[in-house]
Amino acid sequence: MAPFLSIVLVCCALLSLLPGSHGFLFNSTSKKGLVIDTFKNSVQNDLGAWHGPGEKLYVRYGNWARRFVRLFPSNPDHNYHTQLSASCLNLTDYSKMYLHVAASGSHHFSISLYQNVNCDVRKPSVPLTADSIDATRYATGTHIYVPLSHFSIDLSKAHSIAFHGFYSPREVVLHKVEIIPSVPRHVRIPRKQKTGTLVFRCKRPNSFAFGVDDGDPELAREVMKIFEDEGIQVTFFVVGKGLEDKYANFTAFYKEMLQRGHQVALHSYSHPKMEGLDIASIDREILQGYRAVRDQLGVKSRYFRPPYGTIGARTRQRLAWYLKDPYIVNWSVDIEDWLWANTDEPEKQLEAFKRDVDRGGDLVVMHYLTPSTVQYFRDVIKIARNTGKRIMRVDQCLMDPDAPPLKASKSEKGQYMKDEEEGGRDEGGEEVEEIEESERDEEDEDEDESSEDDEESDEEED
Ligand SMILES: [Zn+2]
Repeated sequence: MAPFLSIVLVCCALLSLLPGSHGFLFNSTSKKGLVIDTFKNSVQNDLGAWHGPGEKLYVRYGNWARRFVRLFPSNPDHNYHTQLSASCLNLTDYSKMYLHVAASGSHHFSISLYQNVNCDVRKPSVPLTADSIDATRYATGTHIYVPLSHFSIDLSKAHSIAFHGFYSPREVVLHKVEIIPSVPRHVRIPRKQKTGTLVFRCKRPNSFAFGVDDGDPELAREVMKIFEDEGIQVTFFVVGKGLEDKYANFTAFYKEMLQRGHQVALHSYSHPKMEGLDIASIDREILQGYRAVRDQLGVKSRYFRPPYGTIGARTRQRLAWYLKDPYIVNWSVDIEDWLWANTDEPEKQLEAFKRDVDRGGDLVVMHYLTPSTVQYFRDVIKIARNTGKRIMRVDQCLMDPDAPPLKASKSEKGQYMKDEEEGGRDEGGEEVEEIEESERDEEDEDEDESSEDDEESDEEED
C-alpha cells in the first residue's frame, strides 16, 4: 500500500550521493528546451538525476546503439520515475513549452509531474502534490506532447516525472523525455481536464492530521474511546459497501463520530485499485461510494482517499467530473499496518510512523483492522504531539474554508490551547455542493467521451 512516495524518498537520498546530481535549486534560462532522459544507462538520466522503477516494476534497458527503457507493467501501482533534481528544478522558464515523450507500445498510462515541498537538498525530499494527464489523450503516433501548463503545480519546484497508473498490461517503451519549445504542425493538443487536488501533506502551518481508513467493527468502540480520551478529531475515509452492511453497523458508529466532530469522507464503494479499472467501473465506484456516505450518514463529501493510494489521471478526471473541486488525499506518514500488523514484529508499525514523522510527514494513513495496530494508537498520537504540531481533521489541516473551526484542544500538559488565526467558518461541516447527479450520471459517460473527441486543439500550434 505504500505507493511511490517511499520510492521517491529513498531515491532522493540515493541521488544526493550520485556524482553530478543537481542537489540544488537549478534555474535554467534556456529557451531551447531541455533533454531530461534518453535512457543512456540504468542509474541516472541526462540531467544526472536518478531514474528507475518502483513497486517491483520489471524493466529492461536498451544498449548504446538503441537507447530505451522497456516497462512491463502488470498493476496500476507500478511506476517509473525520472527525476528532474534531487530537490527542485525551476521549470518556470519552460512554462509555455511542452513535455515530449517518445513512447512506443501502449499509451494506457498516466504521466505525472511532481512538486516538491521545498528546494532545500539538506531536507528530506517529500512531494507536496502532483498533477497527472492520461497519455492516451495526448498521443500522436509514438509521440506524446503535453503543454507544461496542463500540469497544475508550482513549476518553480518541479521534482520528478512519473509514468504510472497503467491500465493495460501491454508493454511501454520509453525512448526519450524532454521539454521542447513547440510541437509539429499536425499535432492536436486536447483540452486540459480537471483533475482535482492531490495532497500528500497538510497545508496549515504546524498542523497534523490522521486519516483513518477501513476498520473492523469490533474495534470501533475502542477507537472512539481513544480519540475521545486524547481529545483529537480525525478524518475517517469510509468504504461505501461496508457502510451498507447492516451487520457491521458502521452507520451508527460513524454517525456518532460525526456528532463528536470527526470528519467522514470517501474511500470508494468496494475498495479496488481504481486506476486499473475501465471508466464505467471507476464511475460506479465514485458514485456508489458517494451515495452510500450521503444516504447513510447525510454527508456530501468532496474528500476522497484512493484505495491503496492508487491514483492516476483517469480516476482524478472522473472524480473532478462528479465532485466539485475534489481533494484526493494520500499521505506522508504511513504506519505500515498493512505490512507489519500481522507479523511477529508489530512494533515495526511504531518505527514506520516515527520514521515518516521525522522526515516531516504530517498526514497519516492508518487503519483499525487489527488489535495489533489499535494498541499503538495512543503511542502514535503522542509521537505526533511531540512534534509540537496540532492534531486536526484533514479538511482543517488543508485550510478548507468550509471546514469547521478548530476546537480548543487539550495539550499534553492539560492546558487548553487557544484558537489562533483560524480560517474555518462558524457553521462548519464538510458539506459541499451537491453533485449534479441528474445531469452527471452514468448515462452521461457517452457524452463525456464524445466531448473528449470533440476536444480539438484550443491551443495554438507553434
Ligand atoms: Zn483502504
